[in-house]
Amino acid sequence: MNDCSPTDETKCAELLEWIRDYGARRVNSLLIDTRRSIPPYVVLDFGNAGVLGLQVPKEWGGLGLSYKSTVPVLQQLAAMDIALATFVVVHNFLGIRPIMLSAPEPLRAKLLPDLARGRTLGAFAITEPGAGSNPAAIQGSAVKGADGRIRLNATKMWIGNASWAGVINVFARYTDEHGRPQGSCGAVVPIDSPGLSMGPELLTMGMRGMVQNMVRFDDVELHETHRLGAIGEGLAVAHATMMMTRLALGAISLGAIKRCLQLMTRYASRRTGICAGRLLDNPVSRWRISLALSRSLALEALIAHICDLLDRNEAVPEELLVVAKAFGTEYLWQTADWAIQMLGGRGYLESNVITQIMRDARVGRIFEGPTETLVHHIGSRLMLDDATLRTHLAEVLGAQDIAEQLSALRDALKERSSALTEIYPGRQARDYANSLLGQLVANGILYAVARKVLAAGSADWAVIWAKGAFEAAMADALNSMDDPKPVLSSDAILGLIEGLESDIGNIEQSLPAEEWRLDPYVRVDDVPSKILAW
Ligand SMILES: Cc1cc2nc3c(=O)[nH]c(=O)nc-3n(C[C@H](O)[C@H](O)[C@H](O)COP(=O)(O)OP(=O)(O)OC[C@H]3O[C@@H](n4cnc5c(N)ncnc54)[C@H](O)[C@@H]3O)c2cc1C
Repeated sequence: MNDCSPTDETKCAELLEWIRDYGARRVNSLLIDTRRSIPPYVVLDFGNAGVLGLQVPKEWGGLGLSYKSTVPVLQQLAAMDIALATFVVVHNFLGIRPIMLSAPEPLRAKLLPDLARGRTLGAFAITEPGAGSNPAAIQGSAVKGADGRIRLNATKMWIGNASWAGVINVFARYTDEHGRPQGSCGAVVPIDSPGLSMGPELLTMGMRGMVQNMVRFDDVELHETHRLGAIGEGLAVAHATMMMTRLALGAISLGAIKRCLQLMTRYASRRTGICAGRLLDNPVSRWRISLALSRSLALEALIAHICDLLDRNEAVPEELLVVAKAFGTEYLWQTADWAIQMLGGRGYLESNVITQIMRDARVGRIFEGPTETLVHHIGSRLMLDDATLRTHLAEVLGAQDIAEQLSALRDALKERSSALTEIYPGRQARDYANSLLGQLVANGILYAVARKVLAAGSADWAVIWAKGAFEAAMADALNSMDDPKPVLSSDAILGLIEGLESDIGNIEQSLPAEEWRLDPYVRVDDVPSKILAW
């Protein structure tokens, strides 16, 4: 059971006040974005305030916050600046969390105090050039030699905070000293380990304040004292870490949605002279704000429900965490787009904040599992008859009816998808049905949670929206089966797109940008006879 005492609540309230005050006086998000860097003083101040050790137990220098108190902090940070919030989440959830829960005790005691105060930053490396949305495809290898040493060879990509980090949690396939593959392993790798080389910073569309790098591991020795979880079970640690990070990304989405709603409503309530008068009185405006608001309430209810379970040390079905992330980030993306639209020309100006929110929000739909992958995942779990979710819906959320509807829909989709093999050959028909079912599961969960958590309050209207979304998803799924759209075959797509070359050519610019390489005459290890080649 996590600490949900009045002290926990007081600490959370104090931290929120600190963040609001600090954000107003000491943070300039446009500057952070333009300079592509969070200023060092912000990292240090966050560390001193406890923001970088939110859930680390007090004996290791953290705040030891419950989930219930952690979420408002993330929400507040994201409302202020999504990139800052993501930096905090990467450090707390991807960097610290696996160490806190799965590293040997002496390593925890050694690393956590500095991590919790932000004197060392943490990162998490699983993605590789050939393995992103499917982490199980990683090829990085940790091989135990005859000398008993484990050596890691891997190339990891898009690793958040990597070049700022003191330690990186890395995951790879494991082969024992007899050459037998034995699952996977995870390890905490100090940044100065021989064989570790940091790649360049990658220029991202948004979240420019924080860094993402490629990282190479060439024969990096992994020490038993630095392992994460049992040897052979590294991917289980990675999976658990990413699952909980999905909750944090849901909280980030919630904070940013609320900020968009504030900006939309501020503008719409002041802008007059539009069609029938004030923009806020326009039906389209009110419809969009109502929908975005109802989604944020349902998302908030889901997150609160998850936190309640976690703080009571009760099991949380994976589906709930997946929906918080996948639907949270989708809702945020659409709300940010509506916000820009509602503000008209002002929405498009960088100085009016929402463009940055939109750029920052975009990656949410891709990292920690793209929406499509996650939706497919929860659909296939129900298709395989995993009873966990249905039991949770019926027994914990009191939504036996929704559990039954999902089961009936699963059977219907299973049966009807076999008739679609002409359009979707091989396993495609099954994948298609899984994705449709995933959408239903997600909408069903949000409706069930909204009904239980919100109905007693004054937000019945939000429950009606959630019910409508579930019903629309049901109708859409069945309709997609009965009246499938003319989806082109892969070969037809390739042929048609090849034809576009005659319309627009094959565009690829070759004019170089700026020169940043050292001239051979200046380099330490080069001979002047080598002239810089383009
Ligand atoms: C800014 C940023 C920060 C990141 N930080 C980290 C980090 O700190 N650590 C780390 O390890 N990784 C990190 N990543 C990597 C990130 O998690 C991956 O980019 C992500 O998992 C997607 O993998 P991929 O890019 O290889 O896409 P791919 O695997 O090539 O997938 C491409 C697209 O295929 C579609 N797709 C996939 N599966 C399905 C499906 N079942 N049904 C339908 N469509 C599907 C989706 O639309 C998906 O976006 C980061 C990435 C970015 C951009």
